[in-house]
Amino acid sequence: MPAPARPERCRFAPTTSGPAHPGTLLAALLCWLDARSRGAELILRLEDIDPERCTPAHADAICAALEWLGIDWDERVVQSTRAAAHTGALRRLAADGRLYACTCTRAEIRRARLPAVDGGWRYPGTCRARGIGADELDDCDAALRLRLPDGEIEARDESGLDLERDPLRALGDPLLRRRDGTVSYALAVVVDDAIDGITRIVRGRDLAHTTAGQIALQRLLDLPTPAYRHHLLLLEPRGGKLAKLHGSVAWEQLREVYGPAELCGWLASAAGLQRAPDPIRPAGLLSGFGWDQVRRTDARVRWSDGRLELG
Ligand code: GLU
Ligand code: ZN
Repeated sequence: MPAPARPERCRFAPTTSGPAHPGTLLAALLCWLDARSRGAELILRLEDIDPERCTPAHADAICAALEWLGIDWDERVVQSTRAAAHTGALRRLAADGRLYACTCTRAEIRRARLPAVDGGWRYPGTCRARGIGADELDDCDAALRLRLPDGEIEARDESGLDLERDPLRALGDPLLRRRDGTVSYALAVVVDDAIDGITRIVRGRDLAHTTAGQIALQRLLDLPTPAYRHHLLLLEPRGGKLAKLHGSVAWEQLREVYGPAELCGWLASAAGLQRAPDPIRPAGLLSGFGWDQVRRTDARVRWSDGRLELG
């Protein structure tokens, strides 16, 4: 008899640097619907490796908001407990000649004037010759960057989204460890997705440009590449630069005017999963869920007279 297929594993991975806002809750809802509608396991990974911005209080508040909305998970992991694995990956990359010490300031990088796809400046590769071996890692107090291989990545997104293919030209060599010794999202996300056995990544389109770089790093570390799907974002109504509704309406404020079913119903209609914002729990959306119903374009949202409004 063939061995039973292992269930797929999905994750929702919020950064715990602030309260949950409507965009966080929509991302969680879509991730949950994707996982539960496929019988997959769902891991909640609290991404707290930035010690200046992340706090346990924000992590607890995000968990409380998800539970309130009706979203559950099978395992909860905390990214900062993975330091040994993150260091292990750095050692491996250093031993393979892939790491170098970078002492460039932000102003120096800006002066090179190479636009990056995320709206910032691309690292120009100034320090590439300053390779760091595995035995030099502990004593190095400069920032560490990854020497990305040349060439295109065949990055696929299930939604058909056109992903950046050349991470070097899109963003430049990524920072993997900062001067203060903390590791970056670019490294931690790849290592943790592998430890957590993640086979599907569902996340907002604001992260789509990071995917090719993450796949390049998976290949350098001999880690498997999950399937990716990027979904719509909730955006503020105005402004050339598309800002997320970050913190502008925190869950604490939302729950004063919305019940969980009401807010879930609003999110579902914003995402195109139901016509009207009728109250519904996440579980009520499961049986009819399919990505073909999910709106593909970003939705603009206003906070008007204490209510969320589309448009
Ligand atoms: N922690 C990241 C964020 O909240 C998301 C990580 C990911 O989904 O890859 O923006
Ligand atoms: Zn440099």
